[in-house]
Amino acid sequence: MLEKIYTIPVNEAFDACRDDPDKGCPFCRLHRKLENDEIDIILGASMMEPDIRIQTNELGFCGRHFDMMLERNNRLGLALILESHLALVREGCEPGGILDSRTAGIADRLEKLGKTCYVCSRIERSFGKMVENAVYLYETEDEFRKKTAQMPYFCLPHYAAFLLSAKAHMNKKRLPEFRRTLAETVNRYFDELRGDVSHFCKKFDYRYEDEPWGNSKDAVERAVRFISGDRRTKEK
Ligand SMILES: [Zn+2]
Ligand SMILES: [Zn+2]
Repeated sequence: MLEKIYTIPVNEAFDACRDDPDKGCPFCRLHRKLENDEIDIILGASMMEPDIRIQTNELGFCGRHFDMMLERNNRLGLALILESHLALVREGCEPGGILDSRTAGIADRLEKLGKTCYVCSRIERSFGKMVENAVYLYETEDEFRKKTAQMPYFCLPHYAAFLLSAKAHMNKKRLPEFRRTLAETVNRYFDELRGDVSHFCKKFDYRYEDEPWGNSKDAVERAVRFISGDRRTKEK
């Protein structure tokens, strides 16, 4: 049974991106909000909860999420999390230590630690449900279908995520029309962007020096955000 807890934020993100195309991919916007909320929660209410501490001790955090926590200026909160995390990691660095019997060795344990992040794992779970909620809205609401067609674009990772979630959860009769709508939205932006990147390159040729920049001034940044998702941590 699908939990429909994200239909309101999904609708809000789609509304915001429809009303201001500069906001870009609605799923990047949702992802950013989720990420910021998780950082606030871990440095706030969740920090002292023992069962959550067990998880943060084990999983640790990725560099991106450590950086976001550092930006929050809650040094004591972060220090408390680190104190017990460091203790566990140090134990794992002890040759022949108590963890040695469980896993192969120090390098293996550290390599595994480098790939896990408490915040990433939380986001992954919620974000999947958000995309599934968007699929549900598309399937059930005419208004949302219109909105989807009006998005400025979906970045490539989220285009893939939306397609995959629909493949798993959407009524088969609705799928072809959904795929067409999405392809039109993405490819329209894709072609514009390619034109803008080409125009950007041309501008470095002296023969085109006097031509206007048009939309190409930020084409490189936009292309990066389109290909890999908008990784900026703050709302623009
Ligand atoms: Zn995106
Ligand atoms: Zn992370």
